[in-house]
Amino acid sequence: PTDVNALCEEYLRLAYHGLRAKDKSFNAVFSTELDPSLGLISLVPQDVSRVLLNLFTNAFYAVQQRQKQEKTPGYQPAVSVSTRCANNEAVITVADNGTGIAEDVKQKIFQPFFTTKPTGEGTGLGLSLAYEIITKGHGGTLEVESEVGEGSKFIITLPG
Ligand code: ADP
Ligand code: MG
Repeated sequence: PTDVNALCEEYLRLAYHGLRAKDKSFNAVFSTELDPSLGLISLVPQDVSRVLLNLFTNAFYAVQQRQKQEKTPGYQPAVSVSTRCANNEAVITVADNGTGIAEDVKQKIFQPFFTTKPTGEGTGLGLSLAYEIITKGHGGTLEVESEVGEGSKFIITLPG
């Protein structure tokens, strides 16, 4: 039984500080909206932590990329995580206002070794592993919603 809210909070910070350690000029707003009514969820903490860390790392990368491309002044990179309890399921949403994902890329992101990152920056294994862990490992679901130029949302559900 694991406190999913605590896990989200901890790994969001870890991902942010990990990126900041490599790039001191990087700044993003990160926020949490955690449902206090979410009870302890039965899960493999090492596995779900890896999933969260990958989703957060991807999200910060996407806002960093957009910040580098952004022509409009005043772009504020933002990454958030929210949790809620719905129909006896835990729903975790990781949202960013980064580059977004084009439709043809979206078809491939859960495939092993698919990456759009330069060599050395991505293995392309994060989301395929995340998908395995959440669906096969925990009987949950992992879905994506994304618009180019708007950002992305990755939504995990875990049975309670
Ligand atoms: P990696 O991070 O090593 O590239 P992943 O499996 O974690 O591998 O992600 C695969 C690809 O999905 C990324 O290279 C990127 O193109 C896309 N992607 C994942 N998350 C996001 C996101 N939050 N915003 C934009 N693109 C994303
Ligand atoms: Mg990744």
